Amino acid sequence: MRSRAPLAAPVLLAAVAFAAPAAAQGPDFEKVQIKTEKVAEGIWVLAGAGGNIGVSVGADGVFLIDDEWAPMTPKVKAAVAALSDRPLRFILNTHWHPDHTGGNKDLGEAGALIVAHDNVRLRLSTDQFIEALGMKFPPAPARALPVVTFNDAVTLHLNGDDVEAFHVPPAHTDGDAIVHFRRAGVVHMGDLFFNGMYPFVDLSSGGSFEGFIAAADRALALGEGTRIIPGHGPVGTRADLRAYRDMLVTVRDRVKPLVQAGKTPAEVVAAHPLADLDAKWGNGFMKPEKFVEIVAQSLGRR
Ligand SMILES: [Zn+2]
Repeated sequence: MRSRAPLAAPVLLAAVAFAAPAAAQGPDFEKVQIKTEKVAEGIWVLAGAGGNIGVSVGADGVFLIDDEWAPMTPKVKAAVAALSDRPLRFILNTHWHPDHTGGNKDLGEAGALIVAHDNVRLRLSTDQFIEALGMKFPPAPARALPVVTFNDAVTLHLNGDDVEAFHVPPAHTDGDAIVHFRRAGVVHMGDLFFNGMYPFVDLSSGGSFEGFIAAADRALALGEGTRIIPGHGPVGTRADLRAYRDMLVTVRDRVKPLVQAGKTPAEVVAAHPLADLDAKWGNGFMKPEKFVEIVAQSLGRR
């Protein structure tokens, strides 16, 4: 299990939006403390190392959305135990990346039923290479794989809520799901939403830049007053998501003409089409030049 994490940790961890110098030196899981934040009645967010974890607690037990890097599992368990003494029954993975699925093996062995889109199981069961980051991952152990998979949507009726997870067309990867607590008005978007930051488009996992805009539109349509848990960054409002969505549209509208005019990704980067946006959005996991390069690659694929 540990073998999956160390290779990837130094790069993906930067997405947690820790201070850049710390991220550049790589993570130190021992030192990471999990921060617990209440989002709604019975719904919490755990932020440690890796993607934000959504937690639903109530009479039916504990339900997690994502489970961070594998070495974080003991701390995740402790943070969950502080919220509820009920058993952990379900985990839903928003996508396959190991900073969101690392806890699957231990928590699955302990009895949690893992649910995800079909392509999450497919990618976790086979060798993966995230080209943009130069990171390879071997197949996950059988116990880490989702037991229940869906191709479109699935709804869990738990803790007094109807929690729908629905797949969206390729964006961050080809197996992304948005999770909507219909009654509580809480949404977990996984890495379709990097709050306040340029997102990472994982083209080698079947991702597509334009899919992020469509995914943001789907989430914005879920209702007023929704609180939105991003994969990385602080819990946001619809206004935060709208600002992010508008940024993505601006990015597309500036980069696409350059790509259509025949510029290579390197030439698009050299044109600095997002120079005025970088100060606000370019301080997260995706640095401006890498982001523009990936967007140009994505928009050039037809
Ligand atoms: Zn991811």
